[in-house]
Amino acid sequence: MALKDGNSYRESLRALKLKVYAFGEKIENVVDHPLFQPHINSAALTYELAQGSAAETLFSTTSHLTGKKINRFTHIHQSTDDLIKKVKMLRLIAGKTGSCFQRCVGWDALNATYTVTFEMDRELGTDYHQRLRRYLEYIQENDLMVAGSMTDPKGDRGLSPGKQKDPDMYVHIVEKNDKGIVIRGAKAHQTGVINSHEMLVMPTIAMGEEDKAYAVACALPTDAPGVLHIFGRQTNDGRRMEGGDLDLGNAKYGIVGGEALTVLEDVFVPWERVFMCEEYQYVGLLVERFASYHRQNYGGCKAGVSDVIIGATSAMAEYNGAAKASHVRDKVVEMVHLTETLYCGSIACSCEGAATASGAYFVDPLLANTVKQNVTRFIYEIARLSHDISGGSIATMPSEKDLRNPEIGKHVEKYFKGVAEFPTEDRMRMARLVENMTGGTALVESMHGAGSPQAQRVMILRQANLGRKVRLAKKLAGVQGEK
Ligand code: SF4
Repeated sequence: MALKDGNSYRESLRALKLKVYAFGEKIENVVDHPLFQPHINSAALTYELAQGSAAETLFSTTSHLTGKKINRFTHIHQSTDDLIKKVKMLRLIAGKTGSCFQRCVGWDALNATYTVTFEMDRELGTDYHQRLRRYLEYIQENDLMVAGSMTDPKGDRGLSPGKQKDPDMYVHIVEKNDKGIVIRGAKAHQTGVINSHEMLVMPTIAMGEEDKAYAVACALPTDAPGVLHIFGRQTNDGRRMEGGDLDLGNAKYGIVGGEALTVLEDVFVPWERVFMCEEYQYVGLLVERFASYHRQNYGGCKAGVSDVIIGATSAMAEYNGAAKASHVRDKVVEMVHLTETLYCGSIACSCEGAATASGAYFVDPLLANTVKQNVTRFIYEIARLSHDISGGSIATMPSEKDLRNPEIGKHVEKYFKGVAEFPTEDRMRMARLVENMTGGTALVESMHGAGSPQAQRVMILRQANLGRKVRLAKKLAGVQGEK
């Protein structure tokens, strides 16, 4: 089967029988609904750029399984060059969408599961890796979008999965038979799941033997019987249903990923799609691999998003007549500095990557976690500087309907004008873009997407090799016994 383009991707979504709810209503047609269209447009770009675009060689590659041309979003990294290309690709596409294009989560899930199942098979004599390879071939051959389904609702964070009052707070196995397993629970914050074909379920935290029913990794279609998606709200999402585009800021591509709560009500999964079943000893490794792969991304996609914020902020300064002020230029320099620091980290963790036992390449986990930790701070600072330069109107401007109103439009036109030569509407459009990209949902995503800050700090401490640093210091200080 050939690579999909944007249209065939959209058509393939129409064929799904998804059970989706949003705003308290069942959504029959996701593809044409204004709530979902921006997210679908973003994901569609991952297909459109893979063929016939100037960036085709970045967005497509060769399958190590079949030798066929595939979309890079389904590829298993075969070198540090592949890891670097990933970061470059994410920055490029984020600069075009100013938003999240969602497809990286499933990609990271495939790579993480690929590496860990190899090690499980080698040590346990299981055949999970072969199953995963067959599944991967199916994904590559049909150019499918896979949602990476890791985060559980977690209930009481002070209790492990097996000790929760409600056993469904983490996805768990409720039945095993000769045909497969049955799972129950939910996955939260599911990026892009509404417009994905498949979901790859993984556990979310390291587990002990008492949690083994929760140690499950498996793949299922997003429209499998028993799967229900409840779409999450975003800042200003109601504007999508009002008509017009100015107030949306980024009408075509929206804000972040379009997340949903996915409920799994006794979902059957055949054995050929099960990649971990009660092997709790490997859960920590799988979580670490997936998290590091996904944290690698953030200096790519967030750098691309920040490129747009810097551009929008500079344009606002120009419209406001403040572009030449030295303090404005200095703040723009700071935004660029923070952005490039994020990018450096993602490139570095890719360059320092190494082959796993499976042959697939893995990033340097210490550097990858450092990148994501920086994102939880730098994106807030970039947004703060953008607000500082852009001015208060990004939060107080009247609506597009007021601008178009025959009676009062002239006042909006007159009093929201900046430098005379620039149309008021351009200034309003740019202000809305800044509002869209630096507001509530976008910021929270930078904080918690790919794991909350404390999760990175735990991994940073684990990887930091403090013992070696102490030995270095003792040696220089002449502490006895150190040579
Ligand atoms: Fe990809 Fe970035 Fe979205 Fe994660 S937040 S899915 S890395 S675009």
